[in-house]
Amino acid sequence: MKVKELVEKFEKFAPQSIAMDGDPIGLQIGSLNSDFHKVLTTLDVRPEVVDEAIKTGADFIFAHHPVMFHPAKNLDLSVPQNEMYANIIRHGITVYAAHTNLDFADNGMNDWLAQSLKLKDISGLVPGYKEPVFRLTVQVPNVYAAAVRMSLVDAGAQVDRREFTGYTYQIDGTVYFIPQPGADPTIGQAGEPNEVEDARLEFEVPQRNMEQVLSTLQDVHPLNKPLYNVIKLEDKFHQFTMGRIGSLENSMTLKEFGELCKKAFNVKGLRIVSHNLNQKVQKVAILGGDGGKFFPLAKKLGADVYVTGDVYYHTGHDMLAAGLPVVDPGHNIEKICIPKLAEMFTNWSQDNNWGIEVIQSQINTDPFTFI
Ligand SMILES: [Zn+2]
Repeated sequence: MKVKELVEKFEKFAPQSIAMDGDPIGLQIGSLNSDFHKVLTTLDVRPEVVDEAIKTGADFIFAHHPVMFHPAKNLDLSVPQNEMYANIIRHGITVYAAHTNLDFADNGMNDWLAQSLKLKDISGLVPGYKEPVFRLTVQVPNVYAAAVRMSLVDAGAQVDRREFTGYTYQIDGTVYFIPQPGADPTIGQAGEPNEVEDARLEFEVPQRNMEQVLSTLQDVHPLNKPLYNVIKLEDKFHQFTMGRIGSLENSMTLKEFGELCKKAFNVKGLRIVSHNLNQKVQKVAILGGDGGKFFPLAKKLGADVYVTGDVYYHTGHDMLAAGLPVVDPGHNIEKICIPKLAEMFTNWSQDNNWGIEVIQSQINTDPFTFI
């Protein structure tokens, strides 16, 4: 299978357009036209991970963090980072990274993290890309309506909703027509007046799914030339967000919440920005990675506590002054993407008979050790 087939499917879920400007996402090393048979999911691409890929025969590395955060100024192979690039190329491995597009995706990185804490009533924290939404209206003989509706919803004719899916609207009506002599109608006889019980289906389709939805419509609609129209909705868009905010089932002390985070994220230690570990918390904002600068937003949205990584000393002072306790379990909690991406690719492979192998990196890429 070609790398680009998996990438195209992935980018329906986490399009490049929703990433932060300047984030070096996408193909990192190799070619999208390469064939692969075994993909390795990882948080980081480090020399140990590349060795792991070589040892396990993985020819595609799918990572969260981009590989070249600092551009290479030469290819001097005594530099470990450069030797790693060379090793990747020598072994014909393709490397792809989904970074802030995975952070912003619906049911992506930040939902995985929020689910680890069993948060309820989850909504978005940092607004990002507003994706245009279209209304698709399709006319179809009534007996085919259910089949067409299900196929189009499967193809992406729905705006992602957290609590329900498959939202469509149907109006039943009657179509009157007379096929002219020489016509070859799917329904009725040439020259005879006909009445067909008909349905008009309405869908909301996010821009990224439009092409797939219209090609599916051509495939599943019983008429050669399906009747449909598409209208861009000026007052509606799909808002992608990074970070999540939600509530714990029960309130607990900050200390208890810290313990919960250690367990949920499988970390040996974490830092808490607060001098009062006995204060109660219930509403939790969380943003994987380096999210210190977004703390005012968490505060504004009423979070009792904010969970994010890489909190800087002086930002910690600002958080303390603002009265928002912060739990910093480190950047490495994003390792949750390793099993989650693997699970997603495995499901896609089964559903589409890709026949690929999916493996999860076992390497600990956290540079820090707690003592
Ligand atoms: Zn990160």
